[in-house]
Parts: sequence; structure tokens; C-alpha cells
Amino acid sequence: MDSGGTGIYVHIPFCRFRCDYCAFITYTDRDHLIDDYVTACVEQMAREVARLDVPADTLYLGGGTPSRLTAEQVAAIVDAASLATGAEVSIECNPEDVSADLLLGYRQAGVTRASFGVQSTATRVLESLGRPESPVSLQFLAHAVGASQLQSWNIDLIYGAEAETSEDFRTSVEAVLALSPVLPHLSAYALTVEAGTPLSRAPDRFPDEDLQADRYEWLTARLEAEGYEFEEISSWALPGHTCRHHQRYWSGGNYLGIGAGAHGHLSGHRYWNTVSPERYISMISNGASAIAGEEFVDGPRQVFETESLLLRTATGVAWEALDHEALAILSERGPLIQRRDDRAVLTVAGRLLANRVILCLKSSR
Ligand code: SF4
Repeated sequence: MDSGGTGIYVHIPFCRFRCDYCAFITYTDRDHLIDDYVTACVEQMAREVARLDVPADTLYLGGGTPSRLTAEQVAAIVDAASLATGAEVSIECNPEDVSADLLLGYRQAGVTRASFGVQSTATRVLESLGRPESPVSLQFLAHAVGASQLQSWNIDLIYGAEAETSEDFRTSVEAVLALSPVLPHLSAYALTVEAGTPLSRAPDRFPDEDLQADRYEWLTARLEAEGYEFEEISSWALPGHTCRHHQRYWSGGNYLGIGAGAHGHLSGHRYWNTVSPERYISMISNGASAIAGEEFVDGPRQVFETESLLLRTATGVAWEALDHEALAILSERGPLIQRRDDRAVLTVAGRLLANRVILCLKSSR
């Protein structure tokens, strides 16, 4: 878990296409802004890190599609972050963008960890998700990672697309488990319907939650058999490959938010930047703040929010943080939590009902 300190999140809001399920802040028609946008991120970063007492030790480039950036642009962002020695530097990549040269350039720019949005190895599943690209060769990705000598890497999968069969999902999982070098971190997300997306207007493509639960249970058992450790409801890691930046989010830690639409959190002060890349560039280049909104969270609300996040992780919450009588009513079909020393940690059944278990936190009242 996060032991203090500060991380940095940089949002890169540019994509080549828009996936049907995506509600992230990203644009498919603003590539002409990328150079000026990177310059603005570097400028905001320089201002913000100058105020830190101790250098940040995690940097995460998310999106959008950060792999739209060249190695030189990534190097400019990493340099501006003035990171602590041994910092973790992660970048999200669209598999279609990847080459061994690009990953090597990222590694030379200071990147230590890449995360690839594969989602599925089945063409019809990708089509059903509204992703217009064909599946990439996973072994090609693995070779590129190996050649670049990145310290760690992740693959994202999504399950529950309307066209996906259980066999499709199992084939995707077995493909990532068969890679060489071995994949050290996997995230698998249940497809969710976000308001305002094309998927939200297509009820015939909504995911079946019972099927998703079946796939989750199978996946959990399969990953545990391969030595992957439960990290958070949607993430598993081999020992030594947990994502330190995400651990920071999950434990209510501090991080700067750089870029359009980025969120930051510093000791209960939450803020978010303007979502328009044009406006972001203009504000930063004029010496202004890009913050579009903020709130201060403390007291019981802060406790509840932090415990809600921790409950989803392998760290869990203090045993006495839960109302065990309320929990017993939910647990008719078996235990939803297990005790590990003085902590309460979700069982697999509990992970499937996490949103209801969270309401059994005493801090929720
Ligand atoms: S590539 Fe990622 S960020 Fe871009 S539209 Fe698809 S899901 Fe959203």
C-alpha cells in the first residue's frame, strides 16, 4: 500500500477512434494540438512539482491514448516531473501503436511500466465493443516489451460484450497467460454501461451481469492457480509487480493532476482541470491555473471514501470498521469477507457484491 509521498497523473486526451463504451475525456479530432498540449503539460508540471517538499515517486500517463506521443514528447514530460530515484513511470498504450522501437524509446525516456489496452483477442468481441481495430499479436507485444527491457507491464481485458462467449473470454485469458516473457500484471474489467456513450443507447448490447459474474469467478481461480495475487477487484499481479501509482489511488494518497480533465488530490483537497484541450493550453500558456473545480473532503466523508477504496483491495479495512450484523444479512449464500489478522478482506463472492458490502461500513452512516 501507499506509504505516503506524492504521485503525478498526466492525462493525454487524444484517440484515433472512439470506443462505444468509453466515457473518458478524450478527442478524436484534435491531433493538431498535441505539440502545444505537451508543452502546456510540461509547464503545468514544472509549476506544480516546484511546490512539493519531496519529489514524486510515481508518474502515470493515462488517457485517452498516451502512446500517440513520441518518445521525445514522453521524455519532456518525464523530465519535467523531476522524479525521485527509483520512481515508477507508467504509460497506457494502444496495442496498435506499439513497436519495439517505440517501447525502447519510452524506456530510454524513463518509462518503467507499460499498460496495453488489448480488451479481447476475438475480432467479433472488439467489434461488439465498438473498437474498429483487429486484435494484435499478443506475442508481438510481449517480444517488444522484452526487447525494450521495461521493468513491468500490464494487459487490460474487458469481459461482458454482447458478442462474447465464455470460450472467447477463456481464449483471451489463456493467450495472455501463455506469453513469454510472462505477463506480470493483468487487469480485467466488467463492461459497464456509462451514460452518454453509444453503448448506453443500445440496450441489446448491454452486458449480462450473471454471465460476467461467472467469468469473474473462473478468472479469479485461473489467475490464482498461476500465482497471480489479488490486488484490487479488477487487478492481479505477480509478486513484485503491483502498480504503485494505483495503490496510491486506492489508499487515498496524494497525486497531482496534470492536463485537461485530470483530477488531483492533496490531503483532502480535490481538484480537476478544464476538460477542453484548447482551453487548457490557453490557460497554462497565459500563466493561469487550469483548475475548473475543487472541493475539500475531511472528517467522516474522507474516512468513508478511503475505506470504500481500501475495501476493494487485498489490504481491506480494519475488522471493526464493518457492521457485521448488517453484513450477515447479505451473506446468506456464504461469507463475503475473510479475516486476515485485524483486517477484513473481500472473498471472491464479496468482490461480486462489493458495492453492497461497502454500505456495511460503519463510516457510511
Ligand atoms: S482507446 Fe481507450 S480512451 Fe480511447 S476511446 Fe477507446 S477506451 Fe476510450
